[in-house]
Formats: sequence, structure tokens, C-alpha cells
Amino acid sequence: MKILADYDIDELKKIVSEMGQPSFRATQIFKWLYSGADFDGMTDLPAEFRKELSREYIAVPLTIAEKFVSKDGSVKFLYKYHDGNIIEGVYMPHSYGDTLCVSTQVGCRMGCSFCASGIGGLVRNLTAGEIAAQVIAVNGYLGGSAANRKISNLVLMGSGEPLDNYDNVTKFLRLVTNKNALDFGMRSISLSTCGLVENIKRLADEGYGVTLSVSLHATTDESRRELMPIAHKYTLAQITEAVKYYFEKTGRRIIFEYALVKGKNMSAFDCKRLREITRGYPSHVNLIKLNYVKEKGMQGCSDEEAKRFLQRLTEMNVSATIRRSFGNDVGGACGQLRRNYIAER
Ligand code: SF4
Repeated sequence: MKILADYDIDELKKIVSEMGQPSFRATQIFKWLYSGADFDGMTDLPAEFRKELSREYIAVPLTIAEKFVSKDGSVKFLYKYHDGNIIEGVYMPHSYGDTLCVSTQVGCRMGCSFCASGIGGLVRNLTAGEIAAQVIAVNGYLGGSAANRKISNLVLMGSGEPLDNYDNVTKFLRLVTNKNALDFGMRSISLSTCGLVENIKRLADEGYGVTLSVSLHATTDESRRELMPIAHKYTLAQITEAVKYYFEKTGRRIIFEYALVKGKNMSAFDCKRLREITRGYPSHVNLIKLNYVKEKGMQGCSDEEAKRFLQRLTEMNVSATIRRSFGNDVGGACGQLRRNYIAER
């Protein structure tokens, strides 16, 4: 079975014409898909045509298997795909607009040492329509539709490395920014990468203009290699050169994600290195208090230690903030809910 939401309007036009239908059916289908409708709900399509579509295509490739509502208003979701694969996502209410964290792969092959999502390796890439289905499902959960979107921002920061699934992720970007779909602005989408240099440049060249967020987590190549295997392939100098290129091409400020790991990356030397790495172009450092991942045995730091580190950076004129963490009362780090769910079954 094929996923109908994998197709853009032009591709849908071709599909409907091959089924003997007029081309306006493509826009009708597109709008229904982004409102979360299954074939039964596509009420302005002829019943026989809907039946024909359903023999070949899946309209809704996932269901919300479980949800965990936190006291802080955030909601963690476990989604179950048509093939039984489970992934997770988080909805976070912010004063400046509600944000959904989206996954781009089932599992991940990058193997970062602090991350639960990558523990079992990569299971498979998600298709463009399967990624969009997460947004459609949560928009529907919030009472939204294609014409009445309830989510302001997307962050591609869930399980998976988005730039390791480049074609599907960029198609997803084109789909969700379509006026007949969910009409997101590229500027309201952040893409987080562990630093795949060639694809950062390709994203810049192809003009997507999303906010680029680079998982840094260490300030020397040697220490980064201990945390992130990808650092064996790309040096910090190569990453810095790629993000400068991204800024020059898109005009977008670069965000660096920096998980504070006790005893690993919080020294005065790290502050100096952060100043060097982020100097000469608009950038911002998001400090993240690491969630404890029991399989990895890595410790985060206290609030006081995080504040002290932030203060040092601020004194050095490095733009930085401590990222607010959500949903601490309803499950731990990214990837752990999925692991627990699978283990229980
Ligand atoms: S932090 Fe991101 S890139 Fe690294 S293993 Fe986890 S999901 Fe993959």
C-alpha cells in the first residue's frame, strides 16, 4: 500500500487523472488529507472513487497510540504507524506560539552517546507523508484542520537525523508549507542536525530557509568524538564553515544545541571555545539540561551549575539561554517513551 500524503498536488493530479477523475479532485484530496480525514470522511468525493483509492492507498498512516499530558500543558505522544512501528513526539505550548517536535526516522543511526532514540540503531526512514501525518494527527487532536491550524511552529528534533533522510524531509517541508496543506512558513520550522556538512550546504543551496539548529554538545573535536560518532567524519572547523555558508545563503541565525553533561563539557575552557565557534555570524546557544538516560549512564547538571555556565557565556558576549524543559512528569528523555512502550509489549 502507498501513502497518499506522500504526493504533492501535481503528483495527485496525475494519480486522479489515471483513475479517470478531473484534476480538481487532487486539491480536494490534498485538503482532506491535511485535515486528517480518512477516505470515509472525504465527503465531496464520489463513493466509488474513494473505494478505488482505498484499495491502493493509505490516507491516515498513523494513529495516536498513547498520550501523556503534563502539568505544564505539554503532551507527549506515541504514534503507531501502519506497519506497527512506534515513534514519539511532543507538543509544547509557548507564549510565542505552540510547537510540535517531529520525528523524521524510526530510530537513528548516528549513535550519539546521550540519546535514547539511537539505541537500537536506524529501523527505517519515514516518508514525507508519514512525517506530515504526525503534524496532521496532533493538529486534529487540538481541534484543528487544514484551514484552521492549531500549531504555530515545528521543530525537527525528535527521533532521527533529518539530513540523513534528506529527500523525504525536504519533500515534507514543501508539503507542509503548501497553502492547501497546513501553510506553515519555512521560518516557523527548525531543523536540528548533528552536523552533516554536505547536506547543510545542500539545504542552503536549495533555499529552504528553515532555522538550522546544530547539535554541538562539545567544543573540541576530541571531546565531541566521545559523545557523537559523527565527529569522526566532520570536524568542528568543517561544521563552522558549513553553518557560515548557511547563514550567508539564507540570512538565518544559527542555533547551537549544547547539552550540559556533568564533568564533560562545562569548563571555563568550553566557554572560551563556544565563543570562538560562534563568533563572526549571528548565532545563539541553547543550553540543555540533559535528561538522564539509564542505558547511557550520563549525568546532567544541577540548575545552579547550568546558571553558572550561562553566566560565564553571557559575560563573554555569547548569546545563550537555558532551554525550558517540558513534560518532566510524564516520561524522560526523547526516545525513552518508545523504548518503554516496546519493552512492555
Ligand atoms: S541525538 Fe539526534 S542524531 Fe544523535 S542519535 Fe539521537 S536522534 Fe540521532
